[in-house]
Amino acid sequence: MSTARRDVAALYRELGLRGMNVGASGNVSARAKGGMIITPSGIAGDTVSPKLLVQMDLAGRSKSKLQPSSEWEMHAAIYRADPRAMVIVHTHSPYATALACLNLPLPAFHYGVLEFGGPEVRIAPYLTFGTPQLAAAAADAIQGRTAALLANHGMICHGPTARAALLAAARLEALAQQYLIARAAGEPRLLTPDEIESARIRYLSYGQVAKRKEDPK
Ligand SMILES: [Zn+2]
Repeated sequence: MSTARRDVAALYRELGLRGMNVGASGNVSARAKGGMIITPSGIAGDTVSPKLLVQMDLAGRSKSKLQPSSEWEMHAAIYRADPRAMVIVHTHSPYATALACLNLPLPAFHYGVLEFGGPEVRIAPYLTFGTPQLAAAAADAIQGRTAALLANHGMICHGPTARAALLAAARLEALAQQYLIARAAGEPRLLTPDEIESARIRYLSYGQVAKRKEDPK
């Protein structure tokens, strides 16, 4: 069994254990030779196994017996658009989804938002799940970034490894929670363009890429 299959199954299970994925609502994939390996449709994290994962090319061709996740096109569109994307997580995690249901992007209310590659985490417009239209909108919203919200739906993020993608999903969920708490208590002050630029440079120069890999959370 390939490491990629084991990693994807373990990541999908971990999302469930962390309360970030309920049942089979989310999906996980990894770029693989000839396309990707993705969680199957309708299988929850607690019952998935490496051999149940679906191998397919980015046009949707598969020899697997099981159907891939209904959102396979969203994953394929992101792999096609961004060579940095190696593992993709899509979930309906509670806080990120609550924010997405307000149809709000996640602004730079905290410098941690910059980790996703820009001054805000953008939000893709609401479109029917499992459609090529949603796939295109998600790929557009995440362009040049590593995470995006999906209006009235959830979130999607990617990383260079399964571990990095899990941490990205967990960090986005924590930031969405913090932002919603701050909004409930008042009007959060957003970072100014100068503060955003300064934090961005700090991220680049502080060796955060190496440090993040060691982060035990
Ligand atoms: Zn979904």
